[in-house]
Amino acid sequence: MKEINVLVINCGSSSLKFQLINSASEAVIAKGLCERIGIEGSQMTYTPAGGEKYEVKTPMEDHRSAIRLVLDALVDKDRGVVKSLDEIGAVGHRIVHGGENFASSTLITDEVIKAIEECNDLAPLHNPANLIGIRACKELMPQTPMAAVFDTAFHQTMPEEAYLYGLPYHYYEDYKVRRYGFHGTSHSYVSQRAAAVLGKDYKDLKIIVCHLGNGASVSAVKNGKCIDTSMGLTPLEGLIMGTRSGDIDPAIIEFLCNKENKSVQEILTVLNKESGVFGLSGGFSSDFRDLEKAYRAGEAFAIRTMKTFAYRVAKYIGAYTAAMNGVDAICFTAGIGENSPFIRTMIASYLGYLGITLDEEANVKRGEEIAISTPESATKVLVIPTNEELAIARETASLV
Ligand code: ADP
Repeated sequence: MKEINVLVINCGSSSLKFQLINSASEAVIAKGLCERIGIEGSQMTYTPAGGEKYEVKTPMEDHRSAIRLVLDALVDKDRGVVKSLDEIGAVGHRIVHGGENFASSTLITDEVIKAIEECNDLAPLHNPANLIGIRACKELMPQTPMAAVFDTAFHQTMPEEAYLYGLPYHYYEDYKVRRYGFHGTSHSYVSQRAAAVLGKDYKDLKIIVCHLGNGASVSAVKNGKCIDTSMGLTPLEGLIMGTRSGDIDPAIIEFLCNKENKSVQEILTVLNKESGVFGLSGGFSSDFRDLEKAYRAGEAFAIRTMKTFAYRVAKYIGAYTAAMNGVDAICFTAGIGENSPFIRTMIASYLGYLGITLDEEANVKRGEEIAISTPESATKVLVIPTNEELAIARETASLV
């Protein structure tokens, strides 16, 4: 494979995260974030490898001007990291929803853009923003190949019984209402790293990945293929998250509309933005660092919140153990999964039936790929820091 620098772009509705990664050394050459795009007070933070982080406060009226600013920073005479844009060999775009159109990453062509557009109504907050990023890069770097890496692609191997809902079948046929799953790049990366850490063949393992960040999901990876995952048509399903409810009885929506005199749209906003551990804790915080502190101080709201969160994760682990008829390794990743020994211990306390014992010393380590179960533990428990940007850069480099 040719050595290139890959610009990884993750466009949100008003933000843009980027990293420039060398495909051979896999080093991050520069990274940063543009915030408040199209809103007053826009700013870019930019960190060149080995250099100081700096902030540029300047109006960014749209994503095109944000990307222009990023490219200018990358080639800047003093603080830049490449001499010209020719040294950027490819751009990798994170795309949230690929629907059933994409089971793997792909080079971006006009047809691909159209097919991504077709998925817009499945992810109305995310896909249009991702497309703006693609169009802006196309305009500014017309000769540079670009790849689309989808959050949903890894989960496309799920069998029918895992992705279908118990709804009239024609909703699937007519509108493609089914489970898609998200965080696929992370689930794929972490499960493969788990096999490497265990020194086993990826295709011989049954792995459960718990991606526990602000958004959270669990997936079951059997013999190198995803066979089930907890997020659904949208990222609202599954685990209790920072502010998302996860699984609820769907009849609650109408019940609350009537009680609170709210529209379905308003209740969905509550389910997305005011629920999860934030809602359960009575609006205290969506951040597990705050919740953990309050738990230790014996606050009842924090105890009920963390117990409910951990119980839901444990329930999914049980379900996926059944789905795979066993499990060899359980992996924790993302903000909470990587950094909270407390939550990992709480979840593991439900898993005695899997013969799991945690190594308390390993469990408190940070920032490395590590087994946190004892050597005798019948099922391995691992912490694997996720790296979605690197995974996107690898996919992109392999395509161009
Ligand atoms: P996302 O990418 O979905 O926004 P992250 O994977 O960055 O989320 O995770 C963010 C969350 O990780 C924070 O909201 C916080 O709850 C949790 N977190 C980060 N550091 C710690 C820590 N040291 N202890 C417990 N939780 C942590």
